[in-house]
Amino acid sequence: MDDNGKLLGNIFNITDRLYKDMCVSSRKDHAMLFYYLTELAKTLVDADRASFWKWDKRKGELWTMSATAVDRIVMPDTTGLVGKSLREKKTVITNDPYSDPDFNPSIDKKTGYVTKSVLVLPVADINGNFIGALQLINKNDDKGFDEEEDGKKLSLAALVCGIALESEVFLEESHHDRLTGLKNRMGFYFDFGGKFKDYLLPDSGKTMSVFICDIDKFKRVNDTYGHNAGDDVLVFASQLVESCCGENDSVYRWGGEEFVMVMRDTDLDAAAEKAEEVRVKLMNSDIDADGTTIRCTMSFGVALFDPKKSIEENISAADARLYTAKETGRNKVVKSDD
Ligand code: GH3
Ligand code: MG
Ligand code: MG
Repeated sequence: MDDNGKLLGNIFNITDRLYKDMCVSSRKDHAMLFYYLTELAKTLVDADRASFWKWDKRKGELWTMSATAVDRIVMPDTTGLVGKSLREKKTVITNDPYSDPDFNPSIDKKTGYVTKSVLVLPVADINGNFIGALQLINKNDDKGFDEEEDGKKLSLAALVCGIALESEVFLEESHHDRLTGLKNRMGFYFDFGGKFKDYLLPDSGKTMSVFICDIDKFKRVNDTYGHNAGDDVLVFASQLVESCCGENDSVYRWGGEEFVMVMRDTDLDAAAEKAEEVRVKLMNSDIDADGTTIRCTMSFGVALFDPKKSIEENISAADARLYTAKETGRNKVVKSDD
């Protein structure tokens, strides 16, 4: 078989494994995709190493989504050849990295690896916004990278990486609330298909509890101090609830000024204690709401998750107790129907 035939065979092997993995119906993240695509990039241009980077413009950081041979790293987008490629929106090649001022030799220094050639291809989303980059290190034939030829070969991997990264970002954003940064209802249902899945089985022997809480008289905050002040209170309350989360707890912005906490391996009493902790902390907090210091309280309904009922019925059970808390004076935790 000639070299091109061998190359095609290798490419088909990677895409075949990727496609088969994608067709297995288990919940997974995009990491698997990026792993295969990085392998594909490496194979397409016959390089020794490859990595795929995500550009977080808001934080000014670059993240490795996948890399062969090195650990995942985060670095400022003002440094390195990847940073240069994204800043300048163009392919960057160096076949003499040690005399390139943008090359960061720290990994080589640490590991003893010798970088001889580097190619970085910036990766765009479908709107032409640069969102990541493919970095290839050490062309195996020792001649170094060629912008025209290797750039063209890499375009297939860059194209799919761009679409995959865009879809990951979209999924992430659709699961989170913009104002508070908490997961929203979409994120809630996603988690029930994933990390809470085992707790939904009636015979699992596992215990899980939920509480739903709602800020008391929140409309009055908006009416008195304005919508921005209301937003500040929401952000404060969400951060407070989140700060009370243990590693088995997850919190969601359920609606306007309502939050839901799901607590794995937690019985009703322990969940009510957690709710009480949040209630007391909030009640005693001075909140800076758009320049004015205010206080507010929350009411809570707590329920033990019953796997024989639907998710909605379980939330309704907690919600009915929240209603009781509201009806009987607010700023309290209710954990039973009596
Ligand atoms: P209760 O104690 O019975 O819960 O009274 P409440 O005033 O908190 O309840 P109500 O449902 O009457 O009011 C909720 C308010 O929350 C109304 C709505 O405008 C406000 N709200 C919902 N989402 C947001 C938001 O994102 N930002 C702000 N500032 N207000 C919001
Ligand atoms: Mg309310
Ligand atoms: Mg409400």
